[in-house]
Amino acid sequence: MQALNKKTIEDINARGKKVLVRCDFNVPISGGKIDDVKRIAESLPTIKYLAGEGARVILCSHLGRPKGRFDPKFSLKIVAEKLAELLGQTVAMASDVIGEDAKAKASALKDGEIMLLENVRFHDEEEKNDPEFSKSLASLAEIYVNDAFGTAHRAHSSTAGVAAYLPAVAGYLINKEISVMGGALSEPKKPFVAILGGAKVSDKIGVINNLLGKVDALLIGGAMTYTFVKANGGQIGYSLCENDKLYTAREIVEKAKEANVRLLLPIDHLAADAFKNDANQKECFGACIPDGWQGMDIGPETVNLYSGVIKEAATIIWNGPMGVFEFDNFANGTKEIARAISESGAVSIIGGGDSAAAVEKMGYADKVTHISTGGGAALEFLEGLELPGIACLNDR
Ligand code: AMP
Repeated sequence: MQALNKKTIEDINARGKKVLVRCDFNVPISGGKIDDVKRIAESLPTIKYLAGEGARVILCSHLGRPKGRFDPKFSLKIVAEKLAELLGQTVAMASDVIGEDAKAKASALKDGEIMLLENVRFHDEEEKNDPEFSKSLASLAEIYVNDAFGTAHRAHSSTAGVAAYLPAVAGYLINKEISVMGGALSEPKKPFVAILGGAKVSDKIGVINNLLGKVDALLIGGAMTYTFVKANGGQIGYSLCENDKLYTAREIVEKAKEANVRLLLPIDHLAADAFKNDANQKECFGACIPDGWQGMDIGPETVNLYSGVIKEAATIIWNGPMGVFEFDNFANGTKEIARAISESGAVSIIGGGDSAAAVEKMGYADKVTHISTGGGAALEFLEGLELPGIACLNDR
Protein backbone atom coordinates (compact mmCIF):
# COMPACT_ATOMS: atom_id res chain seq x y z
CA MET A 1 0.00 0.00 0.00
CA GLN A 2 1.14 3.48 -0.80
CA ALA A 3 0.50 6.33 1.63
CA LEU A 4 -1.69 9.13 0.36
CA ASN A 5 0.25 12.42 0.40
CA LYS A 6 -2.91 14.24 1.49
CA LYS A 7 -4.26 14.77 4.99
CA THR A 8 -7.01 12.40 6.05
CA ILE A 9 -9.73 12.46 8.70
CA GLU A 10 -7.26 10.96 11.14
CA ASP A 11 -5.08 14.09 10.85
CA ILE A 12 -7.77 16.48 12.12
CA ASN A 13 -9.53 17.14 15.38
CA ALA A 14 -13.20 17.13 14.47
CA ARG A 15 -14.73 17.12 17.94
CA GLY A 16 -17.53 19.65 18.17
CA LYS A 17 -16.84 20.85 14.62
CA LYS A 18 -19.30 20.92 11.74
CA VAL A 19 -17.80 18.68 9.06
CA LEU A 20 -19.11 18.69 5.48
CA VAL A 21 -18.56 15.22 4.00
CA ARG A 22 -18.95 14.70 0.24
CA CYS A 23 -20.04 11.09 -0.30
CA ASP A 24 -21.01 9.19 -3.40
CA PHE A 25 -24.63 8.25 -2.71
CA ASN A 26 -25.44 8.04 -6.42
CA VAL A 27 -27.18 4.69 -5.94
CA PRO A 28 -29.35 2.81 -8.45
CA ILE A 29 -33.04 3.19 -7.57
CA SER A 30 -36.02 1.45 -9.14
CA GLY A 31 -39.65 1.27 -8.05
CA GLY A 32 -38.91 3.55 -5.09
CA LYS A 33 -36.27 1.15 -3.72
CA ILE A 34 -32.46 1.25 -3.63
CA ASP A 35 -31.24 -1.67 -5.78
CA ASP A 36 -27.68 -1.72 -4.46
CA VAL A 37 -26.47 -0.17 -1.19
CA LYS A 38 -22.77 -0.75 -1.91
CA ARG A 39 -21.98 2.95 -2.30
CA ILE A 40 -23.75 3.79 0.96
CA ALA A 41 -22.02 0.92 2.76
CA GLU A 42 -18.60 2.10 1.47
CA SER A 43 -19.22 5.51 3.07
CA LEU A 44 -19.97 4.15 6.53
CA PRO A 45 -16.40 3.88 7.93
CA THR A 46 -15.80 7.62 7.44
CA ILE A 47 -19.23 8.63 8.77
CA LYS A 48 -18.94 6.36 11.81
CA TYR A 49 -15.42 7.56 12.58
CA LEU A 50 -16.39 11.23 12.43
CA ALA A 51 -19.57 10.76 14.47
CA GLY A 52 -17.60 8.67 16.97
CA GLU A 53 -15.05 11.47 17.29
CA GLY A 54 -17.86 13.87 18.21
CA ALA A 55 -18.03 15.74 14.90
CA ARG A 56 -21.30 17.30 13.71
CA VAL A 57 -21.59 15.49 10.42
CA ILE A 58 -23.17 17.18 7.38
CA LEU A 59 -23.30 14.73 4.48
CA CYS A 60 -23.82 15.70 0.86
CA SER A 61 -23.93 13.95 -2.51
CA HIS A 62 -25.47 14.03 -5.95
CA LEU A 63 -28.02 11.52 -7.20
CA GLY A 64 -28.71 11.08 -10.90
CA ARG A 65 -29.05 13.99 -13.29
CA PRO A 66 -31.79 16.33 -12.05
CA LYS A 67 -30.76 19.13 -14.47
CA GLY A 68 -30.08 21.82 -11.91
CA ARG A 69 -33.52 22.07 -10.29
CA PHE A 70 -35.50 20.41 -7.52
CA ASP A 71 -37.04 17.15 -8.67
CA PRO A 72 -38.50 14.79 -6.04
CA LYS A 73 -37.48 11.83 -8.23
CA PHE A 74 -33.85 12.60 -7.38
CA SER A 75 -34.33 13.39 -3.69
CA LEU A 76 -31.75 11.89 -1.32
CA LYS A 77 -34.45 11.27 1.33
CA ILE A 78 -34.45 7.56 0.49
CA VAL A 79 -30.69 7.51 1.15
CA ALA A 80 -31.10 9.25 4.53
CA GLU A 81 -33.56 6.52 5.55
CA LYS A 82 -31.20 3.74 4.45
CA LEU A 83 -28.26 5.44 6.18
CA ALA A 84 -30.21 5.72 9.44
CA GLU A 85 -31.02 2.01 9.23
CA LEU A 86 -27.39 1.02 8.51
CA LEU A 87 -25.95 3.33 11.17
CA GLY A 88 -28.61 2.66 13.78
CA GLN A 89 -28.79 6.40 14.30
CA THR A 90 -31.09 9.23 13.24
CA VAL A 91 -30.03 11.04 10.06
CA ALA A 92 -31.78 14.41 9.71
CA MET A 93 -32.78 15.19 6.12
CA ALA A 94 -32.61 18.79 4.93
CA SER A 95 -35.17 19.86 2.36
CA ASP A 96 -32.59 21.99 0.51
CA VAL A 97 -28.83 22.25 -0.07
CA ILE A 98 -27.74 25.76 0.97
CA GLY A 99 -31.16 27.14 1.94
CA GLU A 100 -32.80 28.00 5.25
CA ASP A 101 -33.60 24.40 6.20
CA ALA A 102 -30.02 23.21 5.60
CA LYS A 103 -28.64 26.12 7.63
CA ALA A 104 -31.08 25.59 10.49
CA LYS A 105 -30.48 21.85 10.66
CA ALA A 106 -26.70 22.29 10.46
CA SER A 107 -26.76 24.85 13.31
CA ALA A 108 -28.91 22.57 15.45
CA LEU A 109 -26.56 19.57 15.13
CA LYS A 110 -25.02 18.31 18.36
CA ASP A 111 -21.71 16.47 18.70
CA GLY A 112 -21.94 13.04 17.02
CA GLU A 113 -25.16 13.85 15.17
CA ILE A 114 -25.60 13.37 11.43
CA MET A 115 -27.60 15.11 8.71
CA LEU A 116 -27.84 14.88 4.94
CA LEU A 117 -28.26 17.81 2.55
CA GLU A 118 -30.51 17.50 -0.50
CA ASN A 119 -29.05 16.54 -3.88
CA VAL A 120 -26.28 19.05 -4.71
CA ARG A 121 -27.23 18.79 -8.39
CA PHE A 122 -30.53 20.52 -7.62
CA HIS A 123 -28.34 23.60 -8.25
CA ASP A 124 -26.79 23.90 -11.69
CA GLU A 125 -23.94 25.88 -10.07
CA GLU A 126 -22.71 22.57 -8.64
CA GLU A 127 -21.41 21.13 -11.90
CA LYS A 128 -20.12 24.57 -12.97
CA ASN A 129 -17.99 24.67 -9.82
CA ASP A 130 -19.45 28.11 -9.19
CA PRO A 131 -17.38 29.97 -6.52
CA GLU A 132 -20.42 31.57 -4.85
CA PHE A 133 -22.19 28.23 -4.56
CA SER A 134 -18.99 26.59 -3.25
CA LYS A 135 -18.69 29.36 -0.67
CA SER A 136 -22.30 28.94 0.48
CA LEU A 137 -21.81 25.21 0.83
CA ALA A 138 -18.58 25.78 2.75
CA SER A 139 -20.32 28.27 5.08
CA LEU A 140 -22.37 25.41 6.53
CA ALA A 141 -19.25 23.79 8.01
CA GLU A 142 -15.77 24.25 9.48
CA ILE A 143 -13.99 21.29 7.84
CA TYR A 144 -14.44 19.59 4.47
CA VAL A 145 -13.96 15.86 3.91
CA ASN A 146 -14.03 14.36 0.43
CA ASP A 147 -14.89 10.67 0.42
CA ALA A 148 -16.59 10.46 -2.98
CA PHE A 149 -14.05 8.62 -5.10
CA GLY A 150 -16.67 8.04 -7.82
CA THR A 151 -16.78 11.78 -8.57
CA ALA A 152 -13.19 12.68 -7.67
CA HIS A 153 -12.38 13.15 -11.40
CA ARG A 154 -14.94 15.98 -11.54
CA ALA A 155 -14.13 19.56 -10.53
CA HIS A 156 -17.55 20.45 -9.14
CA SER A 157 -18.42 22.67 -6.16
CA SER A 158 -19.00 19.83 -3.70
CA THR A 159 -16.12 17.69 -4.99
CA ALA A 160 -13.42 20.35 -5.29
CA GLY A 161 -14.56 24.01 -5.22
CA VAL A 162 -15.56 23.94 -1.56
CA ALA A 163 -12.00 23.00 -0.56
CA ALA A 164 -10.86 26.56 -1.32
CA TYR A 165 -12.77 27.82 1.72
CA LEU A 166 -12.19 25.14 4.38
CA PRO A 167 -9.47 22.84 5.72
CA ALA A 168 -9.88 19.88 3.38
CA VAL A 169 -8.98 16.23 4.00
CA ALA A 170 -9.66 12.76 2.56
CA GLY A 171 -12.04 10.20 4.02
CA TYR A 172 -11.28 6.50 4.42
CA LEU A 173 -12.72 5.46 1.05
CA ILE A 174 -10.65 7.88 -1.01
CA ASN A 175 -7.63 7.00 1.10
CA LYS A 176 -8.17 3.29 0.41
CA GLU A 177 -8.75 3.73 -3.33
CA ILE A 178 -5.64 5.84 -3.84
CA SER A 179 -3.44 3.75 -1.55
CA VAL A 180 -4.34 0.43 -3.18
CA MET A 181 -4.32 1.57 -6.80
CA GLY A 182 -1.38 3.92 -6.34
CA GLY A 183 0.58 1.16 -4.62
CA ALA A 184 -0.06 -1.23 -7.49
CA LEU A 185 1.06 1.34 -10.04
CA SER A 186 4.17 2.53 -8.23
CA GLU A 187 5.46 -0.64 -6.57
CA PRO A 188 3.76 -3.62 -8.26
CA LYS A 189 4.76 -7.13 -7.35
CA LYS A 190 5.88 -8.75 -10.61
CA PRO A 191 4.68 -10.14 -12.94
CA PHE A 192 2.25 -7.26 -13.32
CA VAL A 193 -0.59 -8.00 -15.73
CA ALA A 194 -3.21 -5.55 -17.02
CA ILE A 195 -6.39 -6.76 -18.67
CA LEU A 196 -8.24 -4.15 -20.70
CA GLY A 197 -11.55 -4.63 -22.44
CA GLY A 198 -14.65 -2.62 -23.18
CA ALA A 199 -15.96 -0.85 -26.22
CA LYS A 200 -13.34 1.53 -27.52
CA VAL A 201 -9.58 1.81 -27.90
CA SER A 202 -10.04 5.59 -27.80
CA ASP A 203 -11.35 5.42 -24.21
CA LYS A 204 -8.37 3.39 -23.06
CA ILE A 205 -5.43 4.96 -24.92
CA GLY A 206 -4.42 7.01 -21.87
CA VAL A 207 -4.51 3.96 -19.61
CA ILE A 208 -2.62 1.80 -22.12
CA ASN A 209 0.10 4.43 -22.52
CA ASN A 210 0.49 4.82 -18.76
CA LEU A 211 0.52 1.07 -18.12
CA LEU A 212 2.92 0.16 -20.96
CA GLY A 213 5.79 1.52 -18.91
CA LYS A 214 4.83 -0.56 -15.88
CA VAL A 215 3.25 -3.91 -16.78
CA ASP A 216 4.83 -7.16 -17.98
CA ALA A 217 1.79 -8.23 -19.99
CA LEU A 218 -1.25 -6.48 -21.41
CA LEU A 219 -4.23 -8.65 -22.32
CA ILE A 220 -6.76 -7.10 -24.69
CA GLY A 221 -10.43 -8.11 -24.94
CA GLY A 222 -13.83 -6.61 -25.72
CA ALA A 223 -14.76 -4.72 -28.84
CA MET A 224 -11.47 -2.83 -28.91
CA THR A 225 -9.88 -6.12 -29.96
CA TYR A 226 -11.19 -5.63 -33.50
CA THR A 227 -9.50 -2.28 -34.04
CA PHE A 228 -6.21 -4.03 -33.20
CA VAL A 229 -7.05 -7.06 -35.39
CA LYS A 230 -7.91 -4.85 -38.37
CA ALA A 231 -4.81 -2.71 -37.80
CA ASN A 232 -2.74 -5.92 -38.00
CA GLY A 233 -4.37 -6.78 -41.35
CA GLY A 234 -6.95 -9.28 -40.01
CA GLN A 235 -10.55 -9.81 -41.08
CA ILE A 236 -13.21 -8.62 -38.62
CA GLY A 237 -16.58 -8.94 -40.46
CA TYR A 238 -18.77 -6.18 -39.14
CA SER A 239 -17.35 -6.19 -35.60
CA LEU A 240 -17.15 -2.81 -33.86
CA CYS A 241 -14.04 -1.00 -35.05
CA GLU A 242 -12.66 2.52 -34.73
CA ASN A 243 -11.28 3.08 -38.20
CA ASP A 244 -9.69 6.37 -37.17
CA LYS A 245 -7.69 4.55 -34.49
CA LEU A 246 -5.96 1.94 -36.65
CA TYR A 247 -2.72 3.94 -36.64
CA THR A 248 -2.96 4.36 -32.86
CA ALA A 249 -3.44 0.61 -32.47
CA ARG A 250 -0.31 -0.06 -34.56
CA GLU A 251 1.61 2.49 -32.49
CA ILE A 252 0.53 0.74 -29.28
CA VAL A 253 1.73 -2.61 -30.66
CA GLU A 254 5.11 -1.03 -31.51
CA LYS A 255 5.43 0.69 -28.14
CA ALA A 256 4.67 -2.58 -26.37
CA LYS A 257 7.48 -4.29 -28.32
CA GLU A 258 9.92 -1.51 -27.44
CA ALA A 259 8.92 -1.67 -23.77
CA ASN A 260 9.23 -5.45 -23.78
CA VAL A 261 5.59 -5.83 -22.76
CA ARG A 262 3.76 -8.98 -23.86
CA LEU A 263 0.71 -7.54 -25.62
CA LEU A 264 -1.77 -10.34 -26.22
CA LEU A 265 -4.80 -10.21 -28.50
CA PRO A 266 -7.53 -12.86 -28.55
CA ILE A 267 -6.62 -15.93 -30.60
CA ASP A 268 -10.25 -16.96 -31.09
CA HIS A 269 -13.61 -15.23 -30.98
CA LEU A 270 -17.23 -16.01 -30.43
CA ALA A 271 -19.03 -14.26 -33.28
CA ALA A 272 -22.72 -13.62 -33.91
CA ASP A 273 -24.80 -12.87 -37.00
CA ALA A 274 -26.80 -10.19 -35.14
CA PHE A 275 -26.35 -8.02 -32.06
CA LYS A 276 -28.70 -9.97 -29.79
CA ASN A 277 -28.52 -12.68 -27.16
CA ASP A 278 -30.16 -15.40 -29.26
CA ALA A 279 -28.23 -14.65 -32.46
CA ASN A 280 -26.57 -17.57 -34.26
CA GLN A 281 -23.06 -18.16 -32.96
CA LYS A 282 -19.81 -19.15 -34.65
CA GLU A 283 -16.36 -19.75 -33.18
CA CYS A 284 -13.72 -18.04 -35.27
CA PHE A 285 -10.01 -18.82 -34.96
CA GLY A 286 -7.15 -16.44 -35.57
CA ALA A 287 -7.70 -13.01 -37.02
CA CYS A 288 -10.55 -14.11 -39.25
CA ILE A 289 -14.19 -13.18 -38.69
CA PRO A 290 -16.15 -13.66 -41.93
CA ASP A 291 -18.43 -11.08 -43.56
CA GLY A 292 -21.88 -11.01 -42.02
CA TRP A 293 -20.53 -11.85 -38.53
CA GLN A 294 -19.31 -9.75 -35.63
CA GLY A 295 -17.06 -10.57 -32.68
CA MET A 296 -19.07 -10.60 -29.45
CA ASP A 297 -16.78 -12.34 -26.95
CA ILE A 298 -13.33 -13.86 -26.59
CA GLY A 299 -13.29 -17.58 -27.46
CA PRO A 300 -12.38 -20.58 -25.24
CA GLU A 301 -8.77 -20.79 -26.47
CA THR A 302 -8.26 -17.15 -25.52
CA VAL A 303 -9.82 -17.83 -22.11
CA ASN A 304 -7.21 -20.60 -21.64
CA LEU A 305 -4.34 -18.43 -22.84
CA TYR A 306 -5.32 -15.44 -20.70
CA SER A 307 -6.10 -17.59 -17.64
CA GLY A 308 -2.57 -19.04 -17.85
CA VAL A 309 -1.02 -15.55 -17.83
CA ILE A 310 -3.33 -14.48 -14.99
CA LYS A 311 -2.36 -17.54 -12.95
CA GLU A 312 1.32 -16.52 -13.06
CA ALA A 313 0.63 -12.87 -12.18
CA ALA A 314 1.48 -11.27 -8.84
CA THR A 315 -0.40 -8.02 -9.53
CA ILE A 316 -3.46 -7.67 -11.77
CA ILE A 317 -5.44 -4.66 -12.90
CA TRP A 318 -8.64 -5.27 -14.86
CA ASN A 319 -10.84 -2.71 -16.56
CA GLY A 320 -13.53 -3.45 -19.15
CA PRO A 321 -15.51 -6.59 -20.07
CA MET A 322 -14.16 -9.18 -22.51
CA GLY A 323 -17.35 -9.20 -24.58
CA VAL A 324 -21.00 -8.19 -24.66
CA PHE A 325 -21.48 -9.59 -21.17
CA GLU A 326 -24.95 -8.05 -20.85
CA PHE A 327 -26.09 -10.91 -23.15
CA ASP A 328 -25.80 -14.20 -21.20
CA ASN A 329 -24.77 -16.08 -24.34
CA PHE A 330 -21.75 -13.80 -24.76
CA ALA A 331 -20.77 -13.40 -21.10
CA ASN A 332 -18.54 -16.47 -20.83
CA GLY A 333 -15.24 -14.70 -21.55
CA THR A 334 -15.90 -12.00 -18.95
CA LYS A 335 -17.04 -14.59 -16.39
CA GLU A 336 -14.02 -16.83 -16.95
CA ILE A 337 -11.56 -13.94 -16.68
CA ALA A 338 -13.27 -12.88 -13.44
CA ARG A 339 -12.96 -16.45 -12.17
CA ALA A 340 -9.27 -16.69 -13.16
CA ILE A 341 -8.52 -13.42 -11.36
CA SER A 342 -10.40 -14.54 -8.24
CA GLU A 343 -8.42 -17.80 -8.15
CA SER A 344 -5.02 -16.25 -8.93
CA GLY A 345 -3.84 -15.29 -5.45
CA ALA A 346 -2.41 -12.09 -6.96
CA VAL A 347 -3.01 -8.57 -5.70
CA SER A 348 -6.06 -7.93 -7.88
CA ILE A 349 -7.64 -4.58 -8.62
CA ILE A 350 -10.88 -4.25 -10.50
CA GLY A 351 -11.05 -0.78 -11.99
CA GLY A 352 -14.73 -0.01 -11.52
CA GLY A 353 -17.61 0.07 -14.01
CA ASP A 354 -18.69 -3.05 -15.89
CA SER A 355 -15.85 -5.29 -14.72
CA ALA A 356 -16.69 -4.44 -11.10
CA ALA A 357 -20.34 -5.27 -11.76
CA ALA A 358 -19.33 -8.59 -13.36
CA VAL A 359 -17.12 -9.61 -10.42
CA GLU A 360 -19.85 -8.72 -7.94
CA LYS A 361 -22.61 -10.45 -9.89
CA MET A 362 -20.57 -13.63 -10.00
CA GLY A 363 -19.93 -13.64 -6.26
CA TYR A 364 -16.15 -13.11 -6.51
CA ALA A 365 -16.17 -9.72 -4.76
CA ASP A 366 -14.54 -11.09 -1.58
CA LYS A 367 -11.89 -12.99 -3.57
CA VAL A 368 -10.27 -9.95 -5.15
CA THR A 369 -8.10 -7.40 -3.36
CA HIS A 370 -9.95 -4.26 -4.35
CA ILE A 371 -12.98 -3.27 -6.41
CA SER A 372 -12.86 0.41 -7.18
CA THR A 373 -16.06 2.36 -6.52
CA GLY A 374 -15.29 4.74 -9.38
CA GLY A 375 -15.51 3.85 -13.08
CA GLY A 376 -14.41 7.11 -14.71
CA ALA A 377 -12.34 8.14 -11.68
CA ALA A 378 -10.49 4.80 -11.61
CA LEU A 379 -9.77 5.05 -15.32
CA GLU A 380 -8.37 8.57 -14.97
CA PHE A 381 -6.27 7.50 -11.99
CA LEU A 382 -4.91 4.55 -13.99
CA GLU A 383 -4.08 7.02 -16.78
CA GLY A 384 -1.82 8.77 -14.29
CA LEU A 385 -3.98 11.91 -14.27
CA GLU A 386 -4.42 14.12 -11.23
CA LEU A 387 -8.01 13.95 -9.94
CA PRO A 388 -9.39 17.41 -8.99
CA GLY A 389 -11.28 16.00 -5.98
CA ILE A 390 -7.98 14.78 -4.54
CA ALA A 391 -5.64 17.52 -5.77
CA CYS A 392 -7.76 20.07 -3.85
CA LEU A 393 -7.15 18.41 -0.46
CA ASN A 394 -4.52 19.66 1.99
CA ASP A 395 -1.05 18.16 1.66
CA ARG A 396 0.46 16.29 4.56
P1 AMP B 1 -16.54 0.27 -21.61
O1 AMP B 1 -17.59 1.18 -21.05
O2 AMP B 1 -15.62 0.91 -22.56
O3 AMP B 1 -15.83 -0.52 -20.55
O4 AMP B 1 -17.34 -0.76 -22.52
C1 AMP B 1 -18.27 -1.64 -22.01
C2 AMP B 1 -19.20 -2.06 -23.10
O5 AMP B 1 -18.45 -2.69 -24.14
C3 AMP B 1 -20.22 -3.07 -22.63
O6 AMP B 1 -21.50 -2.51 -22.74
C4 AMP B 1 -20.05 -4.24 -23.60
O7 AMP B 1 -21.26 -4.78 -24.04
C5 AMP B 1 -19.32 -3.61 -24.76
N1 AMP B 1 -18.58 -4.61 -25.52
C6 AMP B 1 -17.63 -5.45 -25.07
N2 AMP B 1 -17.24 -6.29 -26.05
C7 AMP B 1 -17.96 -5.98 -27.13
C8 AMP B 1 -18.02 -6.49 -28.46
N3 AMP B 1 -17.22 -7.51 -28.85
N4 AMP B 1 -18.88 -5.93 -29.33
C9 AMP B 1 -19.68 -4.89 -28.96
N5 AMP B 1 -19.67 -4.36 -27.72
C10 AMP B 1 -18.82 -4.89 -26.81
